[in-house]
Amino acid sequence: MSDKEINPDKENQPITIDDMQKQVQDMFKGLGANSFVIPITGKPGPSSDQSQTDEVEIDETKDILEAIKTFGLKPKEVTEYLDRFVIKQEEAKKVLSVAVCDHYNHIRESIKVSENEDSYTKQNVILLGPTGVGKTYLIKCLANLIGVPFVKADATKFSATGYVGHDVEDLVRDLVKLADGNTELAQYGIIYIDEIDKIANITADGGRDVSGRGVQINLLKLMEDSDVNLQSQTDMVAQLEMAMDSMHGGAKKKKTSINTRNILFIVSGAFDKMSGMIQKRLEGSQIGFGRSAEELALTTNYLKESTTADFIKYGFEPEFIGRLPIRVACEELLPNDLEHILKDSEGSILKQYYSDFKGYGIDVNLDKSALENIALKAFEQKTGARGLMTVMEQLFRNFKFELPSTSVTSFEVTGSTVSDPQFALEQIMDLGHEARSEQLHNELLEFAQNFRHETSIKLNFNTAAEKLLIEECFSTGTSMNTLCSEKFEDYQFGLGLIIEQLGKKSFTITAKMVKNPDKELSDKIAHSFRK
Ligand code: ADP
Repeated sequence: MSDKEINPDKENQPITIDDMQKQVQDMFKGLGANSFVIPITGKPGPSSDQSQTDEVEIDETKDILEAIKTFGLKPKEVTEYLDRFVIKQEEAKKVLSVAVCDHYNHIRESIKVSENEDSYTKQNVILLGPTGVGKTYLIKCLANLIGVPFVKADATKFSATGYVGHDVEDLVRDLVKLADGNTELAQYGIIYIDEIDKIANITADGGRDVSGRGVQINLLKLMEDSDVNLQSQTDMVAQLEMAMDSMHGGAKKKKTSINTRNILFIVSGAFDKMSGMIQKRLEGSQIGFGRSAEELALTTNYLKESTTADFIKYGFEPEFIGRLPIRVACEELLPNDLEHILKDSEGSILKQYYSDFKGYGIDVNLDKSALENIALKAFEQKTGARGLMTVMEQLFRNFKFELPSTSVTSFEVTGSTVSDPQFALEQIMDLGHEARSEQLHNELLEFAQNFRHETSIKLNFNTAAEKLLIEECFSTGTSMNTLCSEKFEDYQFGLGLIIEQLGKKSFTITAKMVKNPDKELSDKIAHSFRK
């Protein structure tokens, strides 16, 4: 039956969401876009499996919102939690714990009063310090602890207009997406903007960068108290989605904007050039004020000494930097710290490697010298803890490829493994081969013993036969017992016939029989009958 026959009056029917989506897809195809997704919001029907997951999520969100409304963590408790994951950065942990407790304490209280009575000034944070030292990790852990959505972006991807590049308001919309559309939860989220030093409005040649200033001003508005439209004006797909939603009547019920008053903003940057500026300032101004050159040399982390004036000189608008009153500098990670991260951090990459190998039934153990060597190599990369990932990947790349296909079930990693991983891997594989060969030899004896027990026939495997069987176990990964049971399945019966003819109760299994068990058996039977 044709479409027309089912629905002869189709042309006069109102357009459906499916029709509209199809038309839009055709339109995009016409424009050369081969694939794209228009997410249609709205919960699936009660019969769908998804509805159960949604209910769990709604319950979880409810619990988080309840926890925010009754927030009662103390700064020391927050620091204790951070200590489990983040090594060093004690000052940053302290400052962030206090900032987070103040922020969520305030939210708890502000829920009880009207907006007009709320005179709190939000304390946004700026984290300074080199790459890979745990700045993002600290914030991620904080967001996890509180259960709020967390969005990270690099300041460099924003443009002042939002037409080229991204609009800073997209960050808030991303928070809502992460909170599964729950604006109530999203408004308590954390937004983390890295590489903030790259939007200073002074260019490398000392000129003014208007675009940097524009992004700063847009961010400033966002950090203060602004309403963000949940549908980006430049996002065509989102606009279409809203149109479709309104056909369902959804747009009437849904909140269309979100206020940023309760969003905690944390920005960060390496500010390497500012470090030099501060050093110059300190060395110039401190001479004659009692600070010795030795004392100054100790202040290697000059960013700790940053002032508002330094940020303004660096190219930040005074209002912008004023909106970031909490400043803290993270420390560089030294080899000892990197070793500590490997050994003690709950999120250590080492734990991931243990579990990766465990997935193949292999236990790995790294001794102290291995950890020290990895930490040293990682330190040389000058990318903080990120160096650990690179060193570990290079170290274990071939181990991960080769060992799962061998019989190795455990191995030790020492300092010399780290210095020459390939040599160490070959040794482990040789050792593994030897040990497994020994084990397979014993399994073959056991098979012969069981065969004798069941049939009273003694099987002797000659050296060549045993060698072939062991090789086959290695290449196929089968156990000796399975391999022999399959190969010599008919031997109990066949050898029984030979015994009847010849009365012989002991047989030698040769390499030929291993290669061609059935043919060799029938030849032997035929031969015995001829005798
Ligand atoms: P950045 O300072 O550039 O934001 P990240 O926080 O993203 O660096 O660090 C990258 C990864 O390195 C983290 O996900 C974490 O696994 C590890 N890491 C970095 N610093 C630390 C630290 N101080 N303690 C424990 N792990 C860390």
